[in-house]
Amino acid sequence: MEFADKVVLVTGGASGIGRATSLAFARAGARVAFTYLTSADEAATLAAETEALGRRAHGIQADLCHPDPVEAVFAEVEERLGPLDILVANAGGILKRTRVVDLSFELWNQVLAVNLTSTHLCCQAALRRMEPRRSGTIVTMASMAAFDGGGFGASHYAATKGAIATYTRGVAKEVGPLGIRVNGVAPGLIGTRFHDIFNTPEGRRSTVEKTPLRREGRPEDVAEAILFLASPRSGFLTGEIIQINGGLGLF
Ligand code: NAD
Repeated sequence: MEFADKVVLVTGGASGIGRATSLAFARAGARVAFTYLTSADEAATLAAETEALGRRAHGIQADLCHPDPVEAVFAEVEERLGPLDILVANAGGILKRTRVVDLSFELWNQVLAVNLTSTHLCCQAALRRMEPRRSGTIVTMASMAAFDGGGFGASHYAATKGAIATYTRGVAKEVGPLGIRVNGVAPGLIGTRFHDIFNTPEGRRSTVEKTPLRREGRPEDVAEAILFLASPRSGFLTGEIIQINGGLGLF
């Protein structure tokens, strides 16, 4: 019950890594709010599972690429669950794999918005509430792509994740003196619909063969690291990006 009575917001929290993170926080005693974009059914399932654990859960439908809906989400979280203690800025995606020469200006801007702009807007809204209280913790979602440039057709996505890692370090320096910690995670291949849609079975097998731990990551592997970064156990860590990839990239 490490997070008893803490209020947590997980963006993109109804599926994949976000879902595992929402459930892990609920099991550890937190009151969990999560956003979802289109998956109302998954959101309802998660809310029911969380409440079956005896925890309060609150799902909010929102597109996080614009300031007004983001502000509305944070106001609703505080109204329903109380002052926000922890933000997990998880929402994001690649949208489409494409070579740079074929990348449309529209897709470039969409990927920037879904990953970088949404992360910034959520961190800003969280900090406007955390700074006056001089407490709070933020965990951002980078990717192994931030470091290795991404797989085939993922330069646009990798660039946004690299920017999220840099942003995480910058914000950590800014708000550290106020007692607020900001860290990130950088997963490698985690078995979610991200790879069901944007990878192939052969591509996934080949990555596993190159991974020293010889398996794909599970959403729960990432959730564990996120809970560590949100907890007092990591009390002297800030501006850190933890890579979670089974050793992929060590060779
Ligand atoms: P996922 O598709 O299940 O989760 C992505 C979530 O982001 C969804 O809940 C979706 O609703 C939300 N989202 C997307 N665009 C949004 C928008 N405009 N506004 C609000 N919400 C939006 O896949 P996942 O693998 O769980 O991905 C979660 C995060 O992890 C993403 O940021 C992804 O880039 C990152 N990541 C995943 C992997 C992996 O291997 N699966 C690796 C590195 C990083």
